Amino acid sequence: MSTNLFHQLKKKASGLIDNKLSKTGTVLDVRKWGPSAIIEIDLHLPATTMDDWHEVPYMKCKVADLTYRDYTPSGWDVDTQTCTIIVDAGHNGPGSRWAQQLKKGDTISYLGTNSTRQTPVNTSSVICLGDESSIGHMLAMQQLSKPVSRFSGAVVINDEEGRKLFKEYFNSPLQPIARNDVHGHHSLMEWLLQQSYNLENTIFYLVGNSTMVSGLRKVLKQQGFNSNQIKAQGFWS
Ligand SMILES: Cc1cc2nc3c(=O)[nH]c(=O)nc-3n(C[C@H](O)[C@H](O)[C@H](O)COP(=O)(O)OP(=O)(O)OC[C@H]3O[C@@H](n4cnc5c(N)ncnc54)[C@H](O)[C@@H]3O)c2cc1C
Repeated sequence: MSTNLFHQLKKKASGLIDNKLSKTGTVLDVRKWGPSAIIEIDLHLPATTMDDWHEVPYMKCKVADLTYRDYTPSGWDVDTQTCTIIVDAGHNGPGSRWAQQLKKGDTISYLGTNSTRQTPVNTSSVICLGDESSIGHMLAMQQLSKPVSRFSGAVVINDEEGRKLFKEYFNSPLQPIARNDVHGHHSLMEWLLQQSYNLENTIFYLVGNSTMVSGLRKVLKQQGFNSNQIKAQGFWS
């Protein structure tokens, strides 16, 4: 196939998706966490109903031509159809670049929302462990945990300012902890070993980069927790 024909087909496919399948939303506000790579983006999604979000949702955002990335709505409000996505944008990728250039008033395109199938199981203790890319997911878990007193956990955040802002911005029992290893699982393991979680009635939710998720799963099993007490969701590797 000639390069020209390929580009024409690509353009047609892109137009078809944009016109027929995409929904649009408006950026209400953008908060960049100072020197940290975390970006909070408030969205109005008039084409999405949120009252059936009983499991943690995700949305497929158009981040470049024919390029989509998944992000997790948190802090959603059913009446106003607003939510916030929290993007870890410290690496070089189309998703990062998209988040970095967004500003108040922009229109975003997305291919609808779906469920991650994760929801707080009806147990006395729900513990979430994750990295910067999973902050939205963990806050959505907190929003779904009723009563919220059974929710706890920790999130690895690389820089001190980011950890400070997490505490300042969110009313959350999640503890921001320093990253002392590349993927963050050793830091989370260290934190975990200082806690005294009951072996029964505890469900762990591990979310974020896949190395961290599989590393933590291994340690939890070594600690005596069953596979059905560990719910894992790898986001990227
Ligand atoms: C269901 C689901 C929900 C998700 N929700 C969120 C969310 O709320 N917030 C969020 O930030 N991400 C979330 N992700 C991950 C997100 O969809 C992208 O995979 C990720 O942001 C990378 O996209 P990118 O285009 O920026 O980089 P890519 O082009 O995919 O990757 C470029 C390079 O950067 C590395 N990389 C990718 N992500 C990171 C990272 N966070 N830190 C360091 N290096 C990285 C990759 O290994 C690769 O080498 C979610 C993923 C899934 C499956």
